Amino acid sequence: MNSRKPLAVCVFCSSSGKIDRRYVDLAAEVGAELARRGHSLVSGGAQVSCMGAVARAARAGGARTVGVIPEGLVSVEISDEDNDELVVTADMRTRKGEMDRRSDAFLILPGGIGTLEELFEVWTARVLAMHDKPVVILDPTGVYEPLRELMVGLTDQGFARPKIWDAIGWTSSVPEAFDLLERAQPRIEFSPEDYAEAEL
Ligand code: AMP
Repeated sequence: MNSRKPLAVCVFCSSSGKIDRRYVDLAAEVGAELARRGHSLVSGGAQVSCMGAVARAARAGGARTVGVIPEGLVSVEISDEDNDELVVTADMRTRKGEMDRRSDAFLILPGGIGTLEELFEVWTARVLAMHDKPVVILDPTGVYEPLRELMVGLTDQGFARPKIWDAIGWTSSVPEAFDLLERAQPRIEFSPEDYAEAEL
């Protein structure tokens, strides 16, 4: 079931200036689609790379944008003062908490260590039934295929629980990513059974 109600969509994406232009264009496409669907943006509050592109495109399409940036990154990642609201936090932990609190759904684009760290935090919390917010990876170029293979291998070997796949959407299409973000999510059941030992 698609909710189609306006969502605050948190986008995690690259801050790197060394990536192919198509990833910056992808971020802009995501910002434009977010605005077209009437959603608002929560992001890292920086002007650089994909982070800047998604926020600029979202605003150009009429969406409200909220940027959350730690004090220490204001000059490095160049805080985006055009955000409708710019929240400067004391540190990275506070930033992530603030982004979580303000968001209804999480969209992860290709990125580096910061993006991955943010992905695993929201994905893990959903597996542990600590929230019911959609978590969706958008990967049109297959840059995350090795990550998917790693997670499949970890699931096959019992390190990761099969339910991790109920807790994430994975797509190569921008419209499908938003369809997944707008869909009501099944509740992930989490119980002591999850820790029961398998007979090996
Ligand atoms: P990246 O994916 O590394 O280009 O970074 C995307 C965003 O995540 C940027 O705002 C980074 O500053 C931030 N970031 C980098 N490292 C971390 C980390 N360990 N925890 C949380 N955020 C990070």
